[in-house]
Amino acid sequence: MKYSDFEKELECRELNMFSIGKSTLGKEILACHVGNQTGKQVLIQAGIHAREYVTSLLAKSQAESLLSKNLNFGVYFVFCSNPDGVKVVLDGFSSLREKERKFCEERNFDHKLFKANANLVDLNTNFDALWGQGSANRFSPYFENFVGEYPESELETKALCDFTKKIKPSLTLSYHTKGEVVYFGFDTQSDNSLNRDEQIGLKLAEILGFDLQRSYNSCGGFKDWVCDKFDTPSFTIEFGADTLSHPLGLEELPQLQEQSKNIFDRIGEILFKN
Ligand SMILES: [Zn+2]
Repeated sequence: MKYSDFEKELECRELNMFSIGKSTLGKEILACHVGNQTGKQVLIQAGIHAREYVTSLLAKSQAESLLSKNLNFGVYFVFCSNPDGVKVVLDGFSSLREKERKFCEERNFDHKLFKANANLVDLNTNFDALWGQGSANRFSPYFENFVGEYPESELETKALCDFTKKIKPSLTLSYHTKGEVVYFGFDTQSDNSLNRDEQIGLKLAEILGFDLQRSYNSCGGFKDWVCDKFDTPSFTIEFGADTLSHPLGLEELPQLQEQSKNIFDRIGEILFKN
C-alpha cells in the first residue's frame, strides 16, 4: 500500500469529513462525526503512531458501519493523527524534509518501523501529562520515543488537544497496535477514578476478547493527558495479536473489524450506566 492508496481508503462521501488542523508538513488531520450531535460524545483517535496505520483504516470502517445505526450518543473519529508519519512508513524517508531524511537514512532506520511525526517526535509522548517522565522516553530526535522540545510542541498534538477541549468527550479511545490489550489508568488519577476506569476497561476488554492492564511508566500520551486534565475515562487499545510483526497491514483489517464489531453496543451501555 502506498500513501495515496491509504488516503483513498480514508475517503467516504457519506461521512461528513472535516479537518481538526494541519500536520507538520501541511496535511489535513481528518475527522468525522456519526450519531447524535447532542448528548454524550465519544472520541476515537487512531494512527498517532505511524507504523500503526492499520488502526486508521479500522476507525474509518467503524465510522462507516455506524452510519446505518441509530445511536443515542455521538462518536467523533480522528482517523489519522499523524499523516506525515504514515507517509514515511508507506512511501519511505524521501517524504521528509532534507534534514530529517538524512538523519534517518544515515542511521539506517527502517521506514516501515517509523512511529514519529515529520519532526521525529513521538506524538504519543508529547502531551502535557508527566511529560518526559516515561521509562522509554528519549530526549533527542529519533524514529520513536522522542518526547519533543516541550509538551504540545507539535502541531498534531496541539490539534488533538484543541479538538478534545472543544468537543468535551465522555469517553476516549486511542487505537494502537499490537498485543490485544486494553490499557487504563494514569498515575495522577484518584483511586475512585482508577476503579471507575478499571470497571469500564473490563467491559471493553471483554467485548474485544483482549486483556485489561493498568498502564505504568507511560507518560505524555493522549490517554494520559485526558485522564490527567479532565478525569474522563480514557483508554488505549492495542489491536492485533502480539505474534504479528509491525507494521500490521491491510490483510489484518478483517480480523480487527470482526473483533471490534460489537464495541459500540458496549460503549452505549458504558455511557449510560455512568
Ligand atoms: Zn502505538
